[in-house]
Amino acid sequence: MADQYDLLVIGAGPGGYVAAIRGAQLGMKVGIIEREHMAGICSNWGCIPTKALLRSAEIYGHMTHAKDYGLTAEKFGVDIDGVVKRSRAIAAQMNNGVQFLMKKNKVDTIWGEAVISKPGEVKVAPTKKAIQQPQVPPPKNALGEGTYKAKHIIIATGARPRVLPGIEPDGDKIWTYFEAMKPTAMPKSLVVMGSGAIGVEFASFYRSMGAEVTIIELLPQIMPVEDAEIAALARKRLEKARHQDSDRCQGGQGRKG
Ligand SMILES: Cc1cc2nc3c(=O)[nH]c(=O)nc-3n(C[C@H](O)[C@H](O)[C@H](O)COP(=O)(O)OP(=O)(O)OC[C@H]3O[C@@H](n4cnc5c(N)ncnc54)[C@H](O)[C@@H]3O)c2cc1C
Repeated sequence: MADQYDLLVIGAGPGGYVAAIRGAQLGMKVGIIEREHMAGICSNWGCIPTKALLRSAEIYGHMTHAKDYGLTAEKFGVDIDGVVKRSRAIAAQMNNGVQFLMKKNKVDTIWGEAVISKPGEVKVAPTKKAIQQPQVPPPKNALGEGTYKAKHIIIATGARPRVLPGIEPDGDKIWTYFEAMKPTAMPKSLVVMGSGAIGVEFASFYRSMGAEVTIIELLPQIMPVEDAEIAALARKRLEKARHQDSDRCQGGQGRKG
């Protein structure tokens, strides 16, 4: 017989896992179904690992200006493997944290791809999707494929990168945020299409690490959904960063790779 839940949540991103915890706190028997990564995009490939990359870029930026603070810093440079490794380790820590939260709140984790087969019924099968690597191992105590029944179902399956016709990502020259998050070498130059928060974060990271960056934006201002004053300030900072290459090369050892 199929397992019976009060609430099944499909997708263990910030939308899903918070709902699952709340359901459990309210006394429901809750299961959460995830096919790829506990904690979703935010912790694994979004908010958290980008901030880790930006922190490395920030520290590198300070080092290039060490002299202004009366400090000497010589022979420093960018070890891009080390920068990515740190970012991935922080993402893994968040993923493990959410695994722990599920256990603590007595939410069952069900590993696999969910399909709602009929009202109140979810079938879970092995994941067909190509998994982004490196993948944090699924929780050890997770339930597996099967048919699960629930009085309530929450769909919290998130979003996907939008592909533009004619410039489909190839993982080599044309990236989505997945590839941008784990470069194996620093590109000399790159174009960022779209200047929302995510585009500007990556532009800022790659620029700070020494790449020449061009942002393409359709609308009249960068960061189009932000306040115009903030967007103008950000644009000024980015344009200023464009002219700072010569200062940078005098201090550091440049890029590795
Ligand atoms: C590069 C980047 C940087 C970002 N930075 C920020 C930031 O700084 N601040 C901020 O607020 N937001 C940021 N975001 C946005 C943030 O990541 C999303 O808003 C958030 O992850 C959405 O949460 P979610 O739970 O709706 O979806 P997701 O996090 O996408 O989670 C959905 C989950 O559902 C799973 N899933 C999908 N289909 C199925 C299925 N059929 N069966 C089982 N599981 C399934 C997926 O594997 C995934 O784990 C960023 C996003 C990106 C890409």
